Amino acid sequence: MIQTRTIKLLPVSVANKIAAGEVVDRPASVVKELVENSFDAGATQIDIDIVAGGRRLISIRDNGYGMNRDNALMSIEKQATSKINNVEDIETIATMGFRGEALAAIASVSRFRMQTCQDGDLEGTELIINGGQLVDVQVVGCPTGTTIDVRDIFYNLPARKKFMRTAQTEQSHIRTCFLLQALAHYHVGMGLRVDGKNIYRLPADCDLQYRINDLFGVEYMMNLKALDFEYKSVKITGFAGLPTCSRPDRSEQFIFINNRPASASIINIGVQDGYKRLMRSDRRPILFLYIDMPPDIVDVNVHPAKKEVRFHFPDMVKNAISEAIRDTFSNKVDVEDNSENDPFATFKPELPKATYSQLEIDSFDTLEKSIYPKRDIIFSDEDIPESISSEMQIESQPENVEDEQNVPEKSPWKWCRYVGKIDNFYGIFELEDGYFIMNPRASHERILYEQYINAIDSNKIEIQKLLIPETIAMNVKEAERIRGCLEFLNAHGFGITEFDGNTFMVDELPVFFAKTSPKEILREISLEIESSGNKNAKSALGKEFIAKAVCYGAVRSDDNLSEVVMKRLVDDLAKTSMPYTSPSGKPTIIFHSVKELNRKFLRK
Ligand code: ADP
Ligand code: MG
Repeated sequence: MIQTRTIKLLPVSVANKIAAGEVVDRPASVVKELVENSFDAGATQIDIDIVAGGRRLISIRDNGYGMNRDNALMSIEKQATSKINNVEDIETIATMGFRGEALAAIASVSRFRMQTCQDGDLEGTELIINGGQLVDVQVVGCPTGTTIDVRDIFYNLPARKKFMRTAQTEQSHIRTCFLLQALAHYHVGMGLRVDGKNIYRLPADCDLQYRINDLFGVEYMMNLKALDFEYKSVKITGFAGLPTCSRPDRSEQFIFINNRPASASIINIGVQDGYKRLMRSDRRPILFLYIDMPPDIVDVNVHPAKKEVRFHFPDMVKNAISEAIRDTFSNKVDVEDNSENDPFATFKPELPKATYSQLEIDSFDTLEKSIYPKRDIIFSDEDIPESISSEMQIESQPENVEDEQNVPEKSPWKWCRYVGKIDNFYGIFELEDGYFIMNPRASHERILYEQYINAIDSNKIEIQKLLIPETIAMNVKEAERIRGCLEFLNAHGFGITEFDGNTFMVDELPVFFAKTSPKEILREISLEIESSGNKNAKSALGKEFIAKAVCYGAVRSDDNLSEVVMKRLVDDLAKTSMPYTSPSGKPTIIFHSVKELNRKFLRK
């Protein structure tokens, strides 16, 4: 960074290369520009006062390094900046501002007063400018730092004044801007007063989680998980919303690149990719995403308000984001501290470490009878009991479920207790600091899906022969899709042969599908292929399609699930790599904290 304290006029050649645009279009943009200047001046405390939505007064006070008289006078000149010297500097800019036009623009459309005192100076300078005309310069006593009062914005431009909205609307824009800046610079103490009333007093030197907590409340934090990821020269930190807590739009996504609020479509693509299979594609996660990278590989000079950025290596950024999100929501086996993987542990540093006590699991018999109460296919192998699918499920998990000491290290919760059912379907489980409601079907889908993927990956698909091979007639489109992946299906436990026309014969199936009829399975696979738009379902894709079709056999609402099954589902869910949503993005569990209950019952 080449920032000095001396403010100079930019040479025309440089000025012309900087994205031009209206800097000041409403009170909120004044707040943004002035606050950014305060950050650039190294302020550790910034206090903002607004009156009548900023239409009457915007006052910003900082304790930054301030300006001497010469610099103060220079700062209000058009294209005067201390932050860049030449074109190359734009490439490596590390400060918020650099165009050198904000102060001049603001001073030209308002009654403007600046009081500033450079650190180390005994006296400060006061400038008064009305509608761009300097009316007074004098020596004043003031603390180190800068205070700028902007009154009656657009008083001299009736046409622009007319375009301002009500005080209420302008105020809400200012609050949004404040929020963004307070998140971008969470180490800086910040205060906001609106019409004389304190709205926020955010302390300096706090961690991001405390800042989010101060701005959004502690309950909000419960729905977030910390991100911390490095990929090549891109570092991703912040918090990502649990997949179960999605939003219809991106209004709760806060994205910062090198501490600037910024947006770029490639970021959205990375986010979407990271949440794929965790969240429905039409829903958006809550995000506090801090992307840090060398300033010379990101171009911030695209947009006049510097909001939109361009990356020199967009794929690197996209991959970093999607990997960071996947990394956050996948259960890592090799983890010392369980709280890292606990979605509910994000904001409870004071909690004592509880020991995990696994749920009690009764005999397999009871389990299988209740988890798969209905049978529709009879298998030939006499050694295998009728309820093959659940038997198989158990066999496919080598760990001994009867052994309560055998604690799954990667469980997302440390302890939980079955409470009961709601609507004879949803399971309620108590945790040490709250409770969650489980959707058994969505959970079972996640479990089956991962078990099947694991079985394929480790080449351990168990196969069952059908007692009577089934002939299945499909329509032309369905048949075409199945034909396209026939080889793949055969290699993965499906005994399917092509008959004439659009008919197939099935005589073997992976045991995972035992509950479902072969016809339904082929239909499901065909549907999955269709909805993906991919005709040649092979390798990885084929695996996905089959795995999704496996979900078809998950428990249903009329299965009247027993306590044992509920416990088993929760237990198995805890072992999956993505326990919060089904493969199609539906929530598996919804958490509520005791704190939330206390608050709702007005106990605190
Ligand atoms: P830019 O921020 O793009 O350089 P501005 O018009 O916003 O342009 O500010 C002009 C110059 O005035 C800045 O480069 C900086 O040197 C100085 N300045 C503005 N605000 C402050 C402040 N709060 N504290 C110290 N210096 C400031
Ligand atoms: Mg500026």
